[in-house]
Amino acid sequence: MARQRLGQHFLSQGSILERIAQAACPAREPLVVEIGPGTGALTARLLTRADRVVAIELDEGLAAGLRQRYSPLTVMVADAREMDLGRWGPAVIAGNLPYYAATQIIERALASPLTRGVFLIQKEVAERLCASPGSRDYGYLTIATQLLADVELLFGVPPSAFHPPPKVESAVVRLTPRAKAEALGIADVPRFLEFASRCFRQKRKTLRNNLAAFYPGIDSLPESSRRAEQLSLAQFAALYRRLTGMARETAP
Ligand code: SAM
Repeated sequence: MARQRLGQHFLSQGSILERIAQAACPAREPLVVEIGPGTGALTARLLTRADRVVAIELDEGLAAGLRQRYSPLTVMVADAREMDLGRWGPAVIAGNLPYYAATQIIERALASPLTRGVFLIQKEVAERLCASPGSRDYGYLTIATQLLADVELLFGVPPSAFHPPPKVESAVVRLTPRAKAEALGIADVPRFLEFASRCFRQKRKTLRNNLAAFYPGIDSLPESSRRAEQLSLAQFAALYRRLTGMARETAP
């Protein structure tokens, strides 16, 4: 893949790098997996805060440079979208992510035994991850992420902080894993996520419109005339349980 297509925007502001490293490792960590280390600006700061850093970089040239510069570092040349990010065990996962692959990498991180995730991503995506019901950014990505983790938008980063500057604004998010599915009565997470994606299929339409073909029972429920963007995660879970005939009747 050509360099510009790898989303190579290198962070040059020390204060921002320090804030990301501090958010990733507020105290010393046994293991940090860094995605997209690039030339190592963040890596150097993570190495001072963790016993071990594993860096996953798709660009072979950059990976070779990192190996030369940082001897205690484990560098892997790989596509983070296709990796089992849990292969080293529980870890903090952090990185200034390539925009084109950010949501897939975050999905991978959430599928691993994540201690904490701290990612610099496009601001629009950060807002979707953190969104509340009723906001324009609230959608399937919000539900899929917030089912597995608490998400905080920590701070914004302007294009001028990068070389070369990207065309969009960026922001740092922190993901703290929380096992919410069981408490919400969701036994089969993939099935629930399929339900959620159907709810949001046509965002401006009612739940009746989006769901009738899959769950005929929707017609008799009071939620049928509402839109998916109006429902909280707990309300989605309650609706899912009722439509799929699951036992629990009370929302947590
Ligand atoms: N961490 C560096 C910094 O802050 O200056 C570089 C960040 S740059 C936005 C993204 C980095 O991710 C680049 O070094 C790029 O080569 C690498 N990258 C792009 N796609 C990747 C992928 N699929 N898996 C792993 N690394 C990737």
